[in-house]
Amino acid sequence: MPLIVQKFGGSSVANPEKILRAARRAIRAQQEGSQVVMVVSAMGDTTDDLLELAAKITDRPPAREMDMLLSTGEQVSVALMAIAIHSLGHKAVSLTGAQIGVKTDASYRKARIKSIETARLRKSLDDGNIVIAAGFQGIDDDFNITTLGRGGSDTTAVALAAVLRADACEIYTDVDGVYTTDPRVVPEARRVSRISYDEMLELASLGAGVMHSRSIEFGKKFDVPIHVRSSFTDSNGTMIVAEPERPDLPVSGAAITKDEARITVQGVIDKPGSSLEIFSRIAAKNISVDMIVQNIGESGRADISFTVPQNELETALEAVRDAAKVVGAEGITSDDSVAKISVVGLGMAKQTGVAQKMFRSLADAGINIQMITTSEIKISVLVSRERSPEALRIVHHVFELDSTPHAPREDSITRSVMPTMRTGESDAAAVVARLQSMNMEDLTIDEISLDASQARVTISGVPDKPGLAAKVFEDVAAAGIFVDMIVQSHPSAAGTATLSFTVPQNQLTKSVEAAKRIAQSLGCKQVTSSPTIGKLSVSGVGLRTHVGVAIRMFKALSDAGINLEMINTSEVRVNVVVDGAAGEKGLTQLQAAFADVLR
Ligand code: ADP
Ligand code: ASP
Ligand code: MG
Repeated sequence: MPLIVQKFGGSSVANPEKILRAARRAIRAQQEGSQVVMVVSAMGDTTDDLLELAAKITDRPPAREMDMLLSTGEQVSVALMAIAIHSLGHKAVSLTGAQIGVKTDASYRKARIKSIETARLRKSLDDGNIVIAAGFQGIDDDFNITTLGRGGSDTTAVALAAVLRADACEIYTDVDGVYTTDPRVVPEARRVSRISYDEMLELASLGAGVMHSRSIEFGKKFDVPIHVRSSFTDSNGTMIVAEPERPDLPVSGAAITKDEARITVQGVIDKPGSSLEIFSRIAAKNISVDMIVQNIGESGRADISFTVPQNELETALEAVRDAAKVVGAEGITSDDSVAKISVVGLGMAKQTGVAQKMFRSLADAGINIQMITTSEIKISVLVSRERSPEALRIVHHVFELDSTPHAPREDSITRSVMPTMRTGESDAAAVVARLQSMNMEDLTIDEISLDASQARVTISGVPDKPGLAAKVFEDVAAAGIFVDMIVQSHPSAAGTATLSFTVPQNQLTKSVEAAKRIAQSLGCKQVTSSPTIGKLSVSGVGLRTHVGVAIRMFKALSDAGINLEMINTSEVRVNVVVDGAAGEKGLTQLQAAFADVLR
């Protein structure tokens, strides 16, 4: 018998009428011949209300007790859902995270799922019940209640679909699918019929609140197609699967992380181990860091800048202050009025001019770019929070995300149950075996590689004015140069930034010439270059949420005395650039450092 997991978010169970509506939907699925597992979130704004209640007592509540408190929201809604189904004359049983056997680690407020037992669930289903599981919660080895992080019911749903090898996983919400960007910020945003796991993972972690990013990690790792759709209509929504909607388009979505903060550690002695010292202390507090950029400074010192979630700024600063003493930093600055705007697309890896188009559109609106980082499938810029909604609208428009692509691929979602898109029987067995042999949310690394074909160009002393990055990359593109990584540092105390990019080695001479011309015309200080670099990459799933990945890389390289020249992180890949002579050695070091998680 087919098995379907249906998840209902807070807005879809916000009142008794909506609960009854969700109940009827589940009953219908059962009547159509499926076993049904519902995963339910807390009603409406319950979780926010509970947080507020605690905040009225203290601003530092114990994390364990917060999880005890927050988990009650879901307990209310699963009970009401079961009552609703009974009232409609059908069998249902509600279960808490502990009753299902959702085992997690002990990191309250951000717990990771280790395993899920299926025996009790299966038995209840076989007895003809609709099983209603509380989302967002689990228990640790000592039976403490844990929660998975805001939005975590999505992760419960996809994880259940994975362990039960469900035929469909439907996420019912208040929008009718995944949009090219948040439709609340950009009304012109368009629903996509399909999006790839990698793109969704990146978008979710960069601010697209429609899905909890860790749910997409499960989808990708365990091959669960996810159907995001409206709880208020019957129309098809968006399928999150392996293949993108339009692999030929450079950008498939844009996202805003409004609540971002920047930290700069100034005048760090530029030697192996400095970044490690800083980031390992932040990681120890389980804070994920993004947009790591170094500003190559005077006399062997560098500024290291990065971003953290705004609500974790204070905690991150505590860690940074301790580290700063050890690495001999000259000062620390921070800014909690910034936002990160990102564009994401699998197609951008194979196209030129994507970054330049984004920079130009922002420059034309007079929006200053404070920092830049790129990866193979995303470009992120840091701008002032004040201008960030406008910046999002502008980049959304410049990549024509508001217009329907010429060849829409509606074919991909004719039915929510799509046996053809699932792996075959033997693969399914392999997936289940894999699930049982590991902690479900453990880190897995697919590949560790070295690209020794590139060179680096760095322009330093770049004035901090809107339009500079646009100008540089327009001129570089006009010279026919193919740029891979780009990083632009936060401006130094002197008000100038460092802009580095990588190019194929055979284009280095041409690139340096172009950079020198640009530097001269814009009044930059100097152009330096490195004819051979080693770009070391670790690829896998959910690398940014596993805060330890970058740290492991930094440690492995620092232990071998290898200095980092550039860094970029994404959900699916962390890249670091080292001196060309250190590439092979770095690769060996990384292979050893990740041997336990390499699949
Ligand atoms: P639920 O309570 O069902 O889990 P959420 O509020 O977590 O719902 O997620 C749905 C909301 O996500 C939408 O109302 C929308 O404003 C927001 N959102 C942000 N980015 C996107 C996007 N790219 N596509 C669709 N919705 C988005
Ligand atoms: N109720 C939790 C929250 O609001 C989990 C969820 O809705 O996914 O974050
Ligand atoms: Mg949600």
